[in-house]
Amino acid sequence: MQVLLARENGFCFGVKKAVELTEAAAESGASVHNLGQVVHNPTISRRLEDRGVKVIKDVAEASEGVVVIRAHGVPPRVRREIEQRGLECVDATCSLVLRAQRFTKQLADEGYTVVILGTPDHPEVVGLKGFAGKDHVVVETEEQWNALPKMKKAGVVSQSTQPPWAFTALVAHVATLAQEMKVFNTVCPVTVKRQVAATELAEQVRTIVVVGGKNSANTRELVNLARMRGRSAYHIENADELRAEWVAGEDTVGLIGGTSTPMDTLLEVKQRIEALGAEERTAAPA
Ligand code: SF4
Repeated sequence: MQVLLARENGFCFGVKKAVELTEAAAESGASVHNLGQVVHNPTISRRLEDRGVKVIKDVAEASEGVVVIRAHGVPPRVRREIEQRGLECVDATCSLVLRAQRFTKQLADEGYTVVILGTPDHPEVVGLKGFAGKDHVVVETEEQWNALPKMKKAGVVSQSTQPPWAFTALVAHVATLAQEMKVFNTVCPVTVKRQVAATELAEQVRTIVVVGGKNSANTRELVNLARMRGRSAYHIENADELRAEWVAGEDTVGLIGGTSTPMDTLLEVKQRIEALGAEERTAAPA
């Protein structure tokens, strides 16, 4: 059994920066807190925990030391709270998320109703909402955006990991509702490349194993893409979750990871699939 790795894999630059900044803070000897998982990957969270980094849900849980803002960013009030409590703030917000936050604020300042494409409770969207003023709405499904009212001025942005086709469809729809419209395309090009790689993989194999945090939006999108193309796609966080029956009888299995999946986790899964293939060959009647 062969394993075909997708053309794009490994950390994106935003995840790499967030992990490096947290590690550097931990090495300084300070008491380091991640405000939520710094990136959506359990392996990374465990590694940082082993270095003494604590994950907190609320700034109030940190009485001293450093608070690291996750790659997904936070609303402005959270950053203010970190400063007001006299804690050191390490900002690991991805530069592309910062850019989306700036555009969102600009739309709110210019009087647009901000329409955000995203999952309402995803940390990145929670952060964007903090920049969107009172007049904003979050939509995730076609059903939700079909229920949008007519608007005088509508400004559209997106959570970075949303599929580009959904953003295009939403923009086309809002154009039919708004007298005036402004659009900032804040879909992350790195996740788009990863989605293209998943699509290419789906053209070459029947079964795809997708590795990444169960709460990782971009990983889940890769699973959706593979399934939309009629492939069997299995989402796992590590090699221990792989089941032999998923890959049984396959000559080639596709393998791809989310943008916060470490390469070593991906390579462990690759080895496990190859080992299952070898067992299958040995067990086959001569
Ligand atoms: S997926 Fe894109 S937006 Fe998210 S952290 Fe990586 S580079 Fe930044």
